[in-house]
Amino acid sequence: MSTALFTHDDCLHHRTPPGHPEQVARMDSIKTALAAPGFEALDRREAPLCADEDILLCHPQSHLDAIIASEPKDGIRALDEDTHMSPGSVQAARRGVGGTMAAVDAVLSGDVTNAFVACRPPGHHAETETPMGFCLFGNAAIAARHAMERHGLSRVAVVDFDVHHGNGTQALLWNESRVTFFSSHQHPLWPGTGFPEETGAANNIHNIQFAPETNGATMRAAYEAEVFPVIERVKPELIILSAGFDAHADDPLAQLNWAIEDFVWLTEKFCALAEKHCNRRLVSTLEGGYDLTALAESVAAHVGVLLEKGA
Ligand SMILES: [Zn+2]
Repeated sequence: MSTALFTHDDCLHHRTPPGHPEQVARMDSIKTALAAPGFEALDRREAPLCADEDILLCHPQSHLDAIIASEPKDGIRALDEDTHMSPGSVQAARRGVGGTMAAVDAVLSGDVTNAFVACRPPGHHAETETPMGFCLFGNAAIAARHAMERHGLSRVAVVDFDVHHGNGTQALLWNESRVTFFSSHQHPLWPGTGFPEETGAANNIHNIQFAPETNGATMRAAYEAEVFPVIERVKPELIILSAGFDAHADDPLAQLNWAIEDFVWLTEKFCALAEKHCNRRLVSTLEGGYDLTALAESVAAHVGVLLEKGA
């Protein structure tokens, strides 16, 4: 058994304006990090394109149509002050959805133990009918619904440790009682949502807020108190991680002070929970992380644990 890496060069064709933090160079730094010695055992695969009906698992046709219509023929178009599209953006976003779904297929078929999806644009801020926060389609939420609708799972956990609230995933899964969704994030911070009182239609949403400058020790205590016991109770059949690395101390978009070893700790904990409840089945999909060095080091450490636990 092994760890799969799903990625695709189409994700280099989604361009944002100069100086934008969600930049093509993020893919290059991850690619370089995972080409280093120690990652030879990765089962490297192309992230496939998703079909329209996959996106429709979570978004209405009107959203898909609007995104397709918004793609410019040349240059870069702003959908809002943060979110942009260029020629190739739809194709790149379809790789993110398709890659995360293919990762679910690979772990549920027993083909690999776990998988990491390195695609961009990210997905966790895309709401039902609203692209936002660099995101067009909800990769993690669509993959969760794919696992239930196409593979017959009835309990999935989605854990979003990106420093920003996973408002899009929350919106897409608000009424989905089969999914337990956790988002931990800095507060106050954009997008400003993600209060503990936001619990979903079936008490299936869990929001954990961290004050600026919160360190890894506080994060670990919160996960021990508020996340792991719920997962132990729910006993999911699959764990999907919305893996954003922008809680790193060096990240320019937020003020949390997590270190590489905190991402290692989180990854080890979720691998252990997956081993106990999910036959080791875990899918991790890239969200944020905007300091290129911290991102590369964090992804390398995260995937290193996946490889170790997936062997
Ligand atoms: Zn983020």
